[in-house]
Amino acid sequence: MKIIVVNKNINPNIKKLLISKKNEIFSADEYVNGIVNGNRNMLSKAITLLESNLNDDLKKADQIIKMCLPFSGKSRRIGITGVPGVGKSTFIDYFGLKLIENNHKIAVLAIDPSSSLSGGSILGDKTRMESISGKIEAFVRPSPTSGTLGGVASKTRETIVLCEAAGFDTIIIETVGVGQSEIAVSSMVDLFLMLFVAGTGDELQGIKRGIMEMTDILVFTKNDGANIDRTKVAKIQFETALKFFSTKESNWLPKVCCVSAFEKSGFNELNVIIEQYFNHITKNGFIVQNRKNQSLQWLNDQIIDNLKKDFYQNETIKKSITKITQQIVNQQISPIYAAKELIKKYLQQTRDFNK
Ligand code: GDP
Repeated sequence: MKIIVVNKNINPNIKKLLISKKNEIFSADEYVNGIVNGNRNMLSKAITLLESNLNDDLKKADQIIKMCLPFSGKSRRIGITGVPGVGKSTFIDYFGLKLIENNHKIAVLAIDPSSSLSGGSILGDKTRMESISGKIEAFVRPSPTSGTLGGVASKTRETIVLCEAAGFDTIIIETVGVGQSEIAVSSMVDLFLMLFVAGTGDELQGIKRGIMEMTDILVFTKNDGANIDRTKVAKIQFETALKFFSTKESNWLPKVCCVSAFEKSGFNELNVIIEQYFNHITKNGFIVQNRKNQSLQWLNDQIIDNLKKDFYQNETIKKSITKITQQIVNQQISPIYAAKELIKKYLQQTRDFNK
């Protein structure tokens, strides 16, 4: 196919340049042409396609991603996590605004485990990031509200590819610090920020849950009013504690930073640390190596996801699984034996099918 890049920068008038087809079905080529020319509407529609449950949509989404891949990979990918209420959206709103002022184009994506579990969403429901949401240089997209965490994470990886192809040079992946989702996020970003409010006890939880090992920059939010003294103490405690953590693969010693989105303070210092970090990982080659490892992990996750999906959609398995589940519950067979038997049946069936 022929991709005509009209303008590498995001062009607000792009809709006029490209033929707009309301309610019509676009071809994969048309999507890609729109995306690489910064057409946000096409980008949104393509993301909706990849979040769809329809096979035809997914097939088209696969084609689009494949064609967008050569245009991707040039952004800084930043993960941001913290418990609900720590101030993530307020932080990202101001942090993002500063980036835009410095001529960056930012995409903010969310991985929300609550949406996977309940169909509801901690991250998506409120009116969030009002300063950046309306800006042409920002693209804010909540996570899909269905599917497993693994599925949502996989779609986020694909969404990163599309956003990068659309010219966004900074991708922020936000997640709620309540469980597995940080691990998913850390497997797709270059830099991982952990947000805390000093004196709430969350910071101790962070240490316990092993999240600190993933953290590159620890950010104390709400460093204003009565919090200032608490933050000062917490910063010293953390800087001491961080020395006892094992060396990171990136060889970067995590740093602590204090900000207030309300008072717009601490963000210059934070940006200096971020620059130091990217210089560090660029110089020592970690950024390249890490992305290679992440691609391999993506491959691995895809293999497991696809096999799992195929397994549970297999008619023979569907027929057997109810009976076997009952037998396990009644303690008639062990789960280990049952799993082996089911896999044997599945493999037998796929072999017969391929003959
Ligand atoms: P999220 O759930 O982590 O996205 O947190 P929000 O950004 O929604 O913020 C939670 C609460 O903290 C809101 O009431 C905010 O107004 C408040 N908040 C956010 N940033 C600051 C800050 O810099 N200082 C103070 N004092 N409050 C803040």
